[in-house]
Amino acid sequence: MDLNGMVIEENGVNLKSIDVAVVGGGPCGSFAARTLAKHGADVVVFEEHKKIGLPSHCAGHVSLNGLKRLGLRLPQEIFENEIYGAVFYSPSGVEFRVKRSSPVTYVLNRELLDKHLAELALKAGARFLTGLRVHSLVQKSGVVAGVSVSNKQRARETVTSNVVIDAEGCSSLLLKRIGLQTLDRSMVVNAIQAEVDQVEDVDLDMVEVYLGQKYAPGFFAWIIPKKNGSAKVGLATKAGDPREYLKRFMQKHPVASKKLVKSRTTRLSMHPISLGGAIPRTYADGLLVVGEAASQVKSTTGGGIIFGLLCARIAGEVAYEAIENRDFSEQFLSRYQLRWKRSIGFELNAMRQLRKRLNRLSDSQMDKIIGLCSRFGVAKALEDAGDVDYEGNSLVRMIPYLSIPLLALYFVVCSLTSSGSQ
Ligand SMILES: Cc1cc2nc3c(=O)[nH]c(=O)nc-3n(C[C@H](O)[C@H](O)[C@H](O)COP(=O)(O)OP(=O)(O)OC[C@H]3O[C@@H](n4cnc5c(N)ncnc54)[C@H](O)[C@@H]3O)c2cc1C
Repeated sequence: MDLNGMVIEENGVNLKSIDVAVVGGGPCGSFAARTLAKHGADVVVFEEHKKIGLPSHCAGHVSLNGLKRLGLRLPQEIFENEIYGAVFYSPSGVEFRVKRSSPVTYVLNRELLDKHLAELALKAGARFLTGLRVHSLVQKSGVVAGVSVSNKQRARETVTSNVVIDAEGCSSLLLKRIGLQTLDRSMVVNAIQAEVDQVEDVDLDMVEVYLGQKYAPGFFAWIIPKKNGSAKVGLATKAGDPREYLKRFMQKHPVASKKLVKSRTTRLSMHPISLGGAIPRTYADGLLVVGEAASQVKSTTGGGIIFGLLCARIAGEVAYEAIENRDFSEQFLSRYQLRWKRSIGFELNAMRQLRKRLNRLSDSQMDKIIGLCSRFGVAKALEDAGDVDYEGNSLVRMIPYLSIPLLALYFVVCSLTSSGSQ
């Protein structure tokens, strides 16, 4: 059991053979583990980093409705802000504002969120082994039957399990190694986020979204304020060095640069986001794939927390049913994909199509869209809409809702005036 000083053992309990091995102690891994542990399953989460929640690289922007749907009541210290709406800026700086009468989203401290979800899983009975990297999935006659883990000294050991839940995030290295189709690399953007200490002329209860190819090709830039006047400033790009784009955005953008002139960056992080829609197959014999590893992310906005957690909960439930039935075959586990597709499949597909369309828009078309939006009272319609936030899980994530009427409007007007280019 001991390999070069590495002991996969906890409180005298041998972890060589367990019900479920979860790869990754991010939100999705912890949430799947918690679901399983609540049922009494023997589940171990393997996290490569020493500390859960670090390094953190996410804006932590989620909807009230999303948290409600998950039944998550979070401790107060996780909340960094309450948000009522969004201000959208077209490439030339035309402003479009949507504000609700009550909060629609929260800004969460992502490090604390991850820690809290891990604590919930621990309390339910899951075990966490941190500082251990899952090197590969163990396969027996084509069936996933456990994980091979290694520590910093590269000592390796195998842990046998009935099911592996892969929540490894965007890298998808393990899936690649077993030949499962992974996320669409052509639709992965490189994101960067700076935490800054001071923003000016920003409504502290609104997020700001900056559109346009010049500053964030293939995505958008954002300023997400916290209550204390500090902010998360970020963007993603499909090409080029995100650091250069962020520098340009913060120093040269005609609107944003003025708001950030006194800002000092206190923390900088970079991480990819998968925008290509879910991978075609999220299960195999002995395996379920959840969260960003499965690309269960909204292509329009990059939001993956709420959808990932919804899918992680389904994965935990299905893995437990498999344990009860002693059936770990892909036929049995395929019910996971059926269920999560029923829940968010349509949304993921629609958002992927919309992202592709948005990427084809030139800056001048985007300017026209935002202009039309202001003129035709789209903001009012969105403010009054009953549950606009139903599918969104962050303010940034309101773009799909804006984009549908915007695009519809734009194409209608273009076809009427024959001035459009599409
Ligand atoms: C800049 C940025 C801003 C974002 N903003 C938002 C937002 O505002 N709202 C929102 O909803 N989403 C946002 N997202 C997306 C969100 O962060 C992801 O969708 C979410 O983190 C996915 O959770 P996950 O558990 O699937 O993966 P991750 O959070 O990536 O967790 C994966 C975990 O697995 C571990 N791991 C990986 N490989 C191994 C291995 N081989 N062995 C052991 N451990 C391993 C990693 O260390 C990590 O802890 C943002 C992303 C970025 C990059």
